[in-house]
Amino acid sequence: MHNFLPYAWFDGQCIPFNEAKISIATHALHYGTAAFGGMRAIPNPVNKEQFLLFRTDRHIKRLCQSAKLLLTDINEEYIYDSLVKVIKKNKPKNPIYIRPFIYTSDLGIAPRLHNIETNFFIYCIELGDYLSPDGVNCRMSSWTRQEDRSLPLRGKISGAYITSSLAKTEASLSGFDEALLLNSQGKVSEASGMNLFIVRNNQLITPGVDQDILEGITRASIIELAQNMGIKVIERPVDKTELLISDEVFLSGTAAKITPVKKIESTNLSTERPIMNKLRNKLIEITEGRSKDYDGWITKIKLT
Ligand code: PMP
Repeated sequence: MHNFLPYAWFDGQCIPFNEAKISIATHALHYGTAAFGGMRAIPNPVNKEQFLLFRTDRHIKRLCQSAKLLLTDINEEYIYDSLVKVIKKNKPKNPIYIRPFIYTSDLGIAPRLHNIETNFFIYCIELGDYLSPDGVNCRMSSWTRQEDRSLPLRGKISGAYITSSLAKTEASLSGFDEALLLNSQGKVSEASGMNLFIVRNNQLITPGVDQDILEGITRASIIELAQNMGIKVIERPVDKTELLISDEVFLSGTAAKITPVKKIESTNLSTERPIMNKLRNKLIEITEGRSKDYDGWITKIKLT
């Protein structure tokens, strides 16, 4: 069951979620010509009148970049103002996931990005754990992550999520929780909606931004945190068999936060995860507004 919050941002104002409707002929629905964001926000555990958003500036910037890759412009301040208005209007009580969405809103056929009207909306949904915090079993997907030469992978582009959907469902229907995708070079890219990290010999390794990954904001935050903790971070191509002999493997994303990988195909991984635990505890401390040194990563919105 989805718990949508009662108000959405639509056509430049807050309106009841149930009244925010689009036509069946909407261009983006047919061609995947849309870009979106995904943010988490939680009530401040020590002050319920305040909502905490994680790395708002980064999320807004990536959304603008995604829009640019679809040849449309959207103003950063406008997105910020709309986010604040929709959160204040909803006065959420529980942790939420926020979905800002920019799309070709013209009606009718012909895939294109020129001479076309675009529009923007935001809706919010209550969201607990997207993946089990105890860990997930992963399979190697039979689907390959797309290449940057066929699709702008640095954007969060709607149409790209067909591959994620196929991979996730394939994993799920074959008894796994999540899918790991190789890129067209045969190197590990990412999961269906999360970036991937491994730990080998106390070093944190993750596929670089040239490995057809989405440039995850959680990923960037983990890299920065690890470096500040004195953990060596290496961005480089990762082979499939390396996953199987890693000391730790974990996934990162806004929805998934930091989720350990318990098993890949038939290989069980260690349940000792000292580096992941350190990073996860720090990330939780930051998102809950308890870390003075990373206060700048949190936007505080007063609900009253
Ligand atoms: N890869 C994909 C394909 C995703 O959809 C996401 C979720 N946005 C991520 C990685 C992780 O990105 P972030 O940490 O910014 O949520």
